[in-house]
Amino acid sequence: MSREIVDASITFLLEEAEKRKCERLDITFFGGEPLLEKDHIFYITDTLEEKAAHLRINYKMSTNGTLITKPLMAQLMARRIFTSLSLDGPPSIHDKHRPQAGGQRSSRKAIEAAKIMLRYNPCTSVSCVISPDTAMHLADSADYLFNLGFRYLITTLDYSSDWTIKDFKTLKKSYQQLADWYENKMLSNERFYLSFFDERIRTRTFKPITAHERCHIGSRQFSIAPDGALYPCIQFVTTEGLPEYMIGHVSHGFDEACQAYITHCSEKEKSECNGCALEDRCSKWCSCINFMSTGSIEKASPIVCYNEQVLMEIVDRTADRLWKKRLPLFIHKHYNPDYPIIAHMELNL
Ligand code: SF4
Ligand code: SF4
Repeated sequence: MSREIVDASITFLLEEAEKRKCERLDITFFGGEPLLEKDHIFYITDTLEEKAAHLRINYKMSTNGTLITKPLMAQLMARRIFTSLSLDGPPSIHDKHRPQAGGQRSSRKAIEAAKIMLRYNPCTSVSCVISPDTAMHLADSADYLFNLGFRYLITTLDYSSDWTIKDFKTLKKSYQQLADWYENKMLSNERFYLSFFDERIRTRTFKPITAHERCHIGSRQFSIAPDGALYPCIQFVTTEGLPEYMIGHVSHGFDEACQAYITHCSEKEKSECNGCALEDRCSKWCSCINFMSTGSIEKASPIVCYNEQVLMEIVDRTADRLWKKRLPLFIHKHYNPDYPIIAHMELNL
């Protein structure tokens, strides 16, 4: 992204915020590797600090860790850029899918980065992607990341991979192992967040995800491409561009007809889900995943579908066992709305 586009993006964001009477902006820097453009990032945060003191701005970024150093981490913390790390597990797992540009392994640098990041922020989250050829090691990966010091484990499948029936069978066994791991950690009174389990337990104990809690891609949620084009979400941003999903440009604003089309497609009922008991709890509304997996935002991803059905059953059984034991941590974690804040504070002590 050129500095001209950076400036135009800042102007566009401030004008939009003014028009919509926003009090808060959530900005996520994404790549490739966003820290390759750290000067742009600091320029953006410093400019907004100066020009938008009236807005509450939250910054987030996900890094592969290869450029993280202590001084850089100090700069990120000083600007309150909440940085998460992409690390898929121990080196033997991580290096399968994350080579550096020259083909070298990236795990050593990522693990060094993990130690630095956790020292600066014990609440650093780690993003662990599971591919068909790493699915069998899921519980080991979770344990490895936990032992490195991470307490916020964000697990996700690689939705762009070709998952076969055999892979799904492996995945099911892995989820059972992960359930044992989750239960043991809970029984040992460990404070942690495992997205695969905790997100799903929440949809049952607290409430299903309501429409207004979901992302509103193309309207309240959008991504800016390096050339200034506006897209509904990260997955649609490509260097060559996808004209049918381009919803405007920072230089002239949103194209409202395109925005309305995206909203219509993403919110349309999915006929394949009619009558499914999991409809309120399933994450089939993520248009990015649907697009990655099916090439369309209107169709529920079959990978999501299989995953939700297998995982939800295992998660619910685990939650039932913990509930029957009346485990205080389980009750606190899943029934106390203040738990996330309390857990965050405890970790920082
Ligand atoms: S479409 Fe999915 S990935 Fe994109 S912002 Fe919404 S929830 Fe996130
Ligand atoms: S589990 Fe499958 S059928 Fe049910 S809501 Fe999710 S995607 Fe639709």
